[in-house]
Amino acid sequence: MKSPFHIMIIPTLGCPSRCSYCWSSDAKSPVMTIDTIREIVEWLRDFRNDQVTITFHGGEPLLAGAEYFREALPLLAEGLSHLHPTFALQSNLWLMTPEIADILAEYHIPIGSSLDGPREINDQQRGKGYFDRTMRGYEVAREHDLAVSFICTFTAGSYAFREEIVAFFREKGWNMKIHPALPSLRSHDPAVWALSPADYGDLLVFLLNMYQDDPESIEIMNVNDLVKGVMIRQGTVCTFVDCMDSTYAVGPDGRIYPCYRFVGIDEYTMGHVSTRPCTEDLKNSDAGQRLQAFKQRVDSECSGCRHIRYCRGGCPYNAIAPSGGEINGIDPHCIAYRHVLDEITNRIDGEMYSSCMIPSPFQMSSMQKRGKGYKKSSIMNIVSKIVMR
Ligand code: SF4
Ligand code: SF4
Repeated sequence: MKSPFHIMIIPTLGCPSRCSYCWSSDAKSPVMTIDTIREIVEWLRDFRNDQVTITFHGGEPLLAGAEYFREALPLLAEGLSHLHPTFALQSNLWLMTPEIADILAEYHIPIGSSLDGPREINDQQRGKGYFDRTMRGYEVAREHDLAVSFICTFTAGSYAFREEIVAFFREKGWNMKIHPALPSLRSHDPAVWALSPADYGDLLVFLLNMYQDDPESIEIMNVNDLVKGVMIRQGTVCTFVDCMDSTYAVGPDGRIYPCYRFVGIDEYTMGHVSTRPCTEDLKNSDAGQRLQAFKQRVDSECSGCRHIRYCRGGCPYNAIAPSGGEINGIDPHCIAYRHVLDEITNRIDGEMYSSCMIPSPFQMSSMQKRGKGYKKSSIMNIVSKIVMR
């Protein structure tokens, strides 16, 4: 399977929110001009011939305003029509207006937003009033039929409330995707909110257990991605593929970086859209070489791991951030990945061998409908759900 081609556009690093653990906002950041969007189109026109996903990320991308999206979207959609672009947006939704929602709806743009659980837990780590402002934007988005899903960041503090947080998402009927709070390359106190790798592993296994007991009552995207990766033996999200070969981010001033997480950090500039660098140019930049060094490190350090094909050593940013820019190892979340991937692999193997026969997806679905066959808590409940899609 080919790595998906993904371009992240960062219209600004500014953000009206002040989340305690955030490392990606910069109040003095400029806003990307439409001329830079035109340069992006020219750069990408002959850059690569694969279908492209373009995600507007931040900072807070809606700070760029309605006019920016009204101009940028047709330029990208029409100028890159041969790449069949699809779009996505990551936003806290505070600045969502009916006007912006109309523009996004025209391009069927799904929105990923951020909410860390019920109001009290969320506002404790994202700031007072955050929950209500995001909910107001959510209502506007839904009134315009925009699909919204939420990323829930678990910190060292909110980990203790994991049951309450999952119950909240389940009750709302919202898909759930989780992120562990990370140390940052930018922070002076990088680890204060960060979820430890061991706790992150326990959290993933906790989610796996809750999900396999009752997969119809909630959608936990991380578990779907992990189980799918094990089944097809190939990662399906950036963390579990060689992202350096397929993902780039463009900052507000047109500089190119390996990913949104590096935007604004001089040492990770790979080039500028105005000079139309090709993939080799980006790969040969200092930043590109560091990312390639990470890949080589994974090939040697993870060579004995049974999960290497669908884990690929995790996220290079996570590996680089704690060491202040050096590549001294693989993603420190290895402990978490190994924990949950061992659980998934062992459960699938155990259930397959104990049943001696694997029912077809159709049989599994029919057995579930009749309430027979697989026991309530079975990883095959998740496998079946994924396969039936
Ligand atoms: S650096 Fe990490 S977050 Fe960024 S694309 Fe790669 S895996 Fe994803
Ligand atoms: S689980 Fe750990 S050792 Fe195995 S591939 Fe992933 S990062 Fe490497």
